[in-house]
This record gives sequence, structure tokens and C-alpha cells, in this order.
Amino acid sequence: MDLKYVQTTCPYCGTGCSFNLVVKDGKVVGTQPYKRSPVNEGKVCPKGTYAHEFVNSPDRLTKPLIKKDGKFVEATWDEAYDLIAQKFKSYKPDEIACLSSARVSNEENYLLMKLARGVFKTRHIDHCARLCHASTVAGLAASFGSGAMTNSILDIAESKCVFVIGSNTFEQHPLIGRKIVQAKLNGAKIIVFDPRYTPTAKQADLYASFYSGTDVAVLNCLMGEIIRNGWEDKEWVSKRAKGYEELKATVTSDTYLPENVEKISGIAAADLKTAAEWIGTAESSALLYSMGITQHTVGVDNVKSTANLQMLTGNIGRRGGGVNALRGQNNVQGACDMGALPVVFTGYQKVIDEAVHKKFADAWGFPDGICEPKNGYEVTVMFNVLTDNPGELKAMYIMGENPMLSDPDLTHAEHALEQLEFLVVQDIFLTETAQHADVVLPATCYAEKEGTQTSTERRVQMWRKAQDPPGEAKVDWQIISEVAAAMGYADQFPYQSAEEIFNEIAALTPSYHGMNYERLNRPEALHWPCPTEDHPGTPILHIGKCSHPDGMGVMHPIEWKPPAEVPDDEYPYILTTGRCLWHWHTGSMTRRSATLDTEVPTGWIEINTEDAKELGIANKEMVRATSRRGTVDVPAKVTDEIKKGVMFMPFHFAECAANRLTNNALDPIAKIPEFKACAVKVEKI
Ligand code: SF4
Repeated sequence: MDLKYVQTTCPYCGTGCSFNLVVKDGKVVGTQPYKRSPVNEGKVCPKGTYAHEFVNSPDRLTKPLIKKDGKFVEATWDEAYDLIAQKFKSYKPDEIACLSSARVSNEENYLLMKLARGVFKTRHIDHCARLCHASTVAGLAASFGSGAMTNSILDIAESKCVFVIGSNTFEQHPLIGRKIVQAKLNGAKIIVFDPRYTPTAKQADLYASFYSGTDVAVLNCLMGEIIRNGWEDKEWVSKRAKGYEELKATVTSDTYLPENVEKISGIAAADLKTAAEWIGTAESSALLYSMGITQHTVGVDNVKSTANLQMLTGNIGRRGGGVNALRGQNNVQGACDMGALPVVFTGYQKVIDEAVHKKFADAWGFPDGICEPKNGYEVTVMFNVLTDNPGELKAMYIMGENPMLSDPDLTHAEHALEQLEFLVVQDIFLTETAQHADVVLPATCYAEKEGTQTSTERRVQMWRKAQDPPGEAKVDWQIISEVAAAMGYADQFPYQSAEEIFNEIAALTPSYHGMNYERLNRPEALHWPCPTEDHPGTPILHIGKCSHPDGMGVMHPIEWKPPAEVPDDEYPYILTTGRCLWHWHTGSMTRRSATLDTEVPTGWIEINTEDAKELGIANKEMVRATSRRGTVDVPAKVTDEIKKGVMFMPFHFAECAANRLTNNALDPIAKIPEFKACAVKVEKI
């Protein structure tokens, strides 16, 4: 028997835990602790423990598929590439759109970006950060000049006060939740504001439930209290921030007095005052948020408000402080860093900057140039263009994304995909989206290739190959390179390894300049920015100065605005959506992991006990949830652990898809949809 252990990085959430894959006779059969990673010190959550189970699922795609007369038939790689090249050559650049992925490596995101901008010459490329943290990128960049989590995961344990708003950390980032426990054991006060009494809330010294979509009012109230009591960090504010007087005028207005915000948010005035005192007087205070803050039509406003609070209290560039935006998927930070966004190349270098455009065009060496130096469409805008302006976009290349379960208003998403003349999907399973494709390309998972991913704390870490891909499946970067070759651009995609691609990325990306595989192979890896080969990396951003050219942080006065859709007589409840401990994103991997699927085999809707009584609904009874966009039949979970008037559904489950109900209303800047608040009615079936 041949047995080996291959150290790698978890393919699920953005925490970036390390573990060993156990490989027996060439096949991955289990996971074992790897204790040298400082992030998780050998511990993993249930998803990480069973991260081997989907790898050899019988559902894995093993051959290219081409749809003929409405049915998939197996094809050779050459047949698939020939068809893709013939079709994509027939479209104008701006008729093509590409979706990259938070599930694949940095190297593969970079190559799809290069394929889009260099081979297809389209400016339309995006990925699922649009659905989770696009508002973080825009909001934190406006506040600090850099749109990423400011502090490190280890740093959370050092904090003297941890304020969690819009994050169920213990279920979504369990090993970051462990740092909150360590902070608590070190004497920190823990504050959790959430519409649900989550496992995270159960750790809190102060918990308050509130209405989804009232975050700005709550944060303004806390800042108003801090200023009225003189708890702001006057030195930090005077030396390092712009916009204080305007912010002060807004947050100290009567609208945001605790007694008034109690009426808006449902949080008792006394709890708001206590939270303000704890945050304002702590030696250090870390703010943690996730999609509860970002997935709103005011997502950018929400993010800027978290930044305002942390600047006001001097918790930027400070150990134990920071705006800790917890990224959902393993490599959503990396996909953004790699320029799989419609407005930037790698390292957030702007597409519309002529010098940047020339730098990439020169480095890549396409004889016929690259896409125009213009911003492209966000994924949510692509789907709206498909339905509202048929014929403008004609072809799409999707790598590792599943919009047919992850996008808002799935009826609209399905209608959008149906408008395409030609759709290519590159994935490891025949997902709900792949079923709509004209060509499906069988790809590889994290256990079958080498590469890097960048976790939520900007730590760049390695994946290592543990087994061969199944059947004829190929590594994603190899597929992209072969598509480029079929289109006539083999010379621009000469790669023999992921490392060669990484070295090209590092050469073009200032924040990755000092990284190479030798350095990243160390257990602690590296945080960007890492500008030179002797630079130690940057676990905490903005020490001494922010990343704006003048080094100053920018405070933004923001007024609270309600969600795009609020309850009324016809749809009297607020629906919010999210995830659970046992599943991840659209469930394509976790629902094919026997242990995880057994634990939680289907979805549910959480209904407050009093609401359920008024509706005559018993626990576990099937109910019908309806919004203005669709209807879902789903089992009820009657509980005191959700605020009266609010309901919750996880979005992992196709048979009771929460996103049939959600609202496609977008933040005007980040174009992120409002997954966290829409109006629904619920009735017994
Ligand atoms: Fe994987 Fe996240 Fe769990 Fe760590 S906390 S094992 S990265 S899912």
C-alpha cells in the first residue's frame, strides 16, 4: 500500500486553514491535521474535516460535453476547442463576457483575465465577489485607499473588544470564530448585532437582534454616542483622517439618538449606549463583518460606516483593531487581486489608466493588441443587459461559477442565460449553470493541482497536488491555455507550470512583487503587500498612514436609507439569506460530501415562534414562501432565535432555492444585489 500525506489549503471558506490530504494508492481518502499553520494550528471545522469526500465523487465530469439537439454528448478535447474557437472568433469583443471564480487558484484567475482581455479582447470580466464583497472593495478603497481586510486573523485574538455585525463567524468562518473565543479568554468584551441568535451571538457579552437593512443607523448611533461622550481618538482623527466635522454633524443629529435608532433598528437604546461605551473606551476594538453588511443596496454605505467607526476610535493601523471584512469563499480575495473584475488588472491597477493598459499590453505581447482601456460590465449588469437589451451580449465563458443558484432572482438569471447564443462552462460537476451550457469542459479541484490562493486576511498560500484528475479532466490553467492556442495565441500562453504563471503575476503586480513559490511554501506564507523579495509581508495595513496618495483616511458622512423592498400588507416579512456550518455556497461540493449532506440534507426557512403561531405553522411543516419574484416550498424551522418579523433561508439548496425569492436591486456603486433584505409572505401548504 502506498500512503502519503500532502499538505494543502482548505477549498472552502476564506479563512485559509491548512491540513494534510491522506493519499492511499494514488487516491485522496481523508484529511489529517497539519499543525504548523499559524492560522488554524491543526484544527479544522466540519467542512475542512470532510474536504476529501467530494474529490472522487462519481458525479465528477471526466470528458468534454457538447450539447446537440438539447442533449449533452461526449466529445474529444479537440472537438470542444475547435467549436469554442470557431464560435468565439465569430463574435465582436464586446459581445463576449467572462466569469472567473473564487474557487480556482490565483494563477487560473489571472489566466482567464488574460484570455478575456488579450484573446477575446472583451472588457467584460467579473466573478462572484460581485455577489459578496464588491461593496467591501469599493467602500474600503474609498475610506483607506485599499479595499481589503485591514488586520490579520491572528490579530483578532489580541483585541480588547470584538464587535461583530453582519457576520455569523462561528458557522461561516469557524476557525476565525476560535480567535474571538481566544480574545474573550484574554478579557475582551464581545458584542454581536445580528437578526438571528446565531452560534456567534451565543458567545457575546452583549447581543442584540435588529432588523436587516438598518446597519447605517446603528453605526451612526454608536458614533454619535462616542462623540457625545468624548470617547473618540482625537489624535488619530486630527492627524490621520479627513471629513471629521461633516461626519460629526451627521452622526450626532437627533435622527441617530439611541432612542430614535431603537425605533429604526429594534435594538434597545440601553444596548446601543453600552456597545458605544465598550467600543469607545477599549484599548483596541476589532470590527468583524461579512455579507450582512455588504449584500445591500446600501452595501458601500454600510462598509464606509464600519470604516468611519474604526477611524473615529483610532482602530486603524492598530493591533487588535481594524475593519475585518471576512471573505466568504476560499479565493475570493485572490480572484479580485488577480484582476477578475471589470475595472482593474492585477493588484487593482485601473483598466482606464493608459499607462497601466500599456504595461499589460506590452508584457503580454498580443500582436493585435488587447481590449480597449474601458471598464466592463459587472456580472449583475451582464445579466440585466442580457434580459433588457437582447443581442448586445451573445457569448459567455464561465469558469467555476454557478449563477443559476447564487444569483438573485433565479427566474431572471435563467431568462438571462437563455438569451445567450453560446455558453461555455468549465467546472468539476454538471452544476445548475453547466446544464445550460453548449460546451462543458471537465476541470480539476484543489486536490489535483498546484497553485496559490489568497485568504481573507491577504495571506497567499499554496495548494499542492495530491492525486491525478479523474478521466480526461484537465487543470484549469491548462484548459485556458489550450483555448487560447485554439484561438491562435499559443505564443502568449506558453506555460508549463502554475509557478511560471505566478512569476508572471508577481512581475506585473506591485503588491505581489516580492512573492515566489519558495517563500510561499513556508507554513506562515505571506500577506500582501509584499513589494520586495526581502519584505516580510504586511499582516496589518495602514500603520502610520493609509493607502491614499496623501496617506489620510477619508470619513464619509452617510445617512441611513431603508432597503429597496420593505414589508407591506401583501408581503409582511423581511427575508434574509445566508449559509450554514455544514454547506458551502451553492453546495456543488458539500452536497456531494456524504457526511456533510447527511448532517444537513436540505434547506429550511426560519420563522419566529410568535410569527409561526399567528400563521398557524408548526415546526418542520412544509410552507410556501413567496416574494414578488417567485415561490419556494420549504420546511419551516420555528425558533425563538430569529427576530419577530424576520425570516431566514440558507441559499445552498436547489430544491428550495432561496434565490428564487431574493431581490435583484443593486447597490449603485458596487452593483451588489440586496440578498439580505426582501419582502415575503409565508403560508401553510
Ligand atoms: Fe476550511 Fe474555513 Fe473550516 Fe478552515 S474554517 S476548515 S478554511 S471551511
